Amino acid sequence: MSEKTIFKRIIDKEIPADVIYEDDLCLAFKDIAPKAPTHVLIIPKKEIATVDDIADEDAALIGHMWIVIRNLARDLGLEEGYRVIVNCKEAGGQEVPHLHYHLLGGRKMTWPPG
Ligand code: ADP
Repeated sequence: MSEKTIFKRIIDKEIPADVIYEDDLCLAFKDIAPKAPTHVLIIPKKEIATVDDIADEDAALIGHMWIVIRNLARDLGLEEGYRVIVNCKEAGGQEVPHLHYHLLGGRKMTWPPG
């Protein structure tokens, strides 16, 4: 058995997080090291390591997560705009091997990202 990721431990309530939304399929909580005034992570409760590990049958889950992101952005007052980022594997800058969407807002974003 491989060790639980930090995000799986948050899902299982083994370590605390500043959870702002939860349902049967996913969880959203504030990033511990925010890169913008608003920085929330949205994760599936299902253990999916990376974008590469999304299965065809996860389509409804992934679609649901985008609806949650849209609603959170509205609830967090990001009507002027925001950015959603998914880092995939090492070259993509992914540190935690549990799929997560970064929702960033509250400042003007620059392009391209580093
Ligand atoms: P990176 O660290 O390069 O952004 P990821 O895309 O894997 O890589 O993002 C992991 C994110 O998880 C980081 O933004 C990090 O600050 C955040 N993080 C790590 N541990 C915790 C935690 N216990 N609670 C909330 N956020 C966390």
